[in-house]
Amino acid sequence: MSTSPDPIHKLNSASTVVIGAGAAGLVAAIFAAREGVPTVLLEGTEKIGTKILISGGGRCNVLPGAYDEQAFFTQGSRNILRRIFRTWPHTEIRAWFEGELGVPLKLETESGKLFPVSEKARTVRDALVEACLTAGVEIRTGWRVERVEAPKGLDQWIVHAQAESHAPLQADCVVLATGGQSVPKTGSDGHGYSMARAMGHSTLPIYPALAPLRHAEDDLLTLAGVSVPISWSTWKDGKCLERGMRPALFTHQGLSGPAILDASHWVIRDGAELRIGWGGMNREAWADVLCTSSARTLGICLQEHLPKRLAQTLLTRAHLSDQQSFAQFTRQARERLLNSLGNFALPVTGDRGFAVAEVTGGGIPLGEVRPSTLESRKQKKLYLCGEILDCIGRIGGHNFLWAWVTGRLAGTQAAKKART
Ligand SMILES: Cc1cc2nc3c(=O)[nH]c(=O)nc-3n(C[C@H](O)[C@H](O)[C@H](O)COP(=O)(O)OP(=O)(O)OC[C@H]3O[C@@H](n4cnc5c(N)ncnc54)[C@H](O)[C@@H]3O)c2cc1C
Repeated sequence: MSTSPDPIHKLNSASTVVIGAGAAGLVAAIFAAREGVPTVLLEGTEKIGTKILISGGGRCNVLPGAYDEQAFFTQGSRNILRRIFRTWPHTEIRAWFEGELGVPLKLETESGKLFPVSEKARTVRDALVEACLTAGVEIRTGWRVERVEAPKGLDQWIVHAQAESHAPLQADCVVLATGGQSVPKTGSDGHGYSMARAMGHSTLPIYPALAPLRHAEDDLLTLAGVSVPISWSTWKDGKCLERGMRPALFTHQGLSGPAILDASHWVIRDGAELRIGWGGMNREAWADVLCTSSARTLGICLQEHLPKRLAQTLLTRAHLSDQQSFAQFTRQARERLLNSLGNFALPVTGDRGFAVAEVTGGGIPLGEVRPSTLESRKQKKLYLCGEILDCIGRIGGHNFLWAWVTGRLAGTQAAKKART
């Protein structure tokens, strides 16, 4: 018996191959197949939608409570982003999950995030796989794509597997949904960028976005496990890049939690300075609090707004005793304390990298795809969707929103093109 690969396995004449069975690829495959063209979904690992399964602490934050344009960041045009998001409004996506996929969602009011009522990420992943199968998608796992090429004179793509035992596939249209490079053990290891570059695309430098930050402040490292709301701002060349307010978490390596992840991409990509207002209050708010309680001891006053251990650490840093009151201090001592409480510049020494970053920043510039179809401007019949494109969202379901919207657009349009 021959062990050599089969000759090229020709799919039906109108066919779409989607590479990557993550959030964007699953949705792309569903919508491509619903256009009535044979659709094959290729996944490099043995498991489908691994990132969906580990998302939201195993609960999968499917969507934000509402669409917020300001929650997205790209080095490309915001107009392109807007045009892409308009193709599938947030309310319709929610209705699709709840009505068509049968995954009811509930709003967690304190965070503004939408989770499946089951509180299980598996519900979301399974519903997407089921929808693929119902639409007639052929799913092949363990089918890692090595390269995609368009031989001269052939108006179709040839998709080559890494494993020699898999015969190459011939397809009219290809959707590249290989994700970024964060948490590479899930299968998204950045190979998609190389394949896109080989097909004529450029890539903006990639970096771990939404990643915990490292510092080497011994007194703060001993606070591992303490959680506290913070108001944060990122600064470069005297300009504030962004500010926000969310919880942060002290860890053995530095700081994490939603606030830090949101702020991190400015620090990692732009080398911005991160300033923190502990307890969610900036310097002015702390000045108001301390002036109105100026007769009380600092220890009592700070502990009303901060975890005890953090309050003690910040007082020690400012060389002050918790038994003194604010009114007793010199002007310099007050300034020192207010800066430490409300305008704390975190001496960041690095980040935790791709191994733990929730998303990858940078990637294929939005200017290299057509906003109305997500077809590549470099190659006809090639479509791109999801995290491989240069767009990231804040923590809160925004990154899945991007994956669902771009997956649907790329899948639908690829199938329409394949049919022509
Ligand atoms: C720990 C964690 C928690 C998260 N929680 C949330 C959350 O709750 N809400 C939210 O909105 N976002 C969350 N995110 C971000 C979100 O998971 C991603 O933005 C989203 O999964 C990106 O979807 P994608 O389909 O573009 O890429 P991916 O989900 O990464 O899927 C890409 C797929 O392509 C496959 N692949 C790659 N290369 C090849 C190849 N050569 N051949 C074949 N297959 C290939 C990969 O194996 C993978 O299955 C979280 C991320 C992490 C890491």
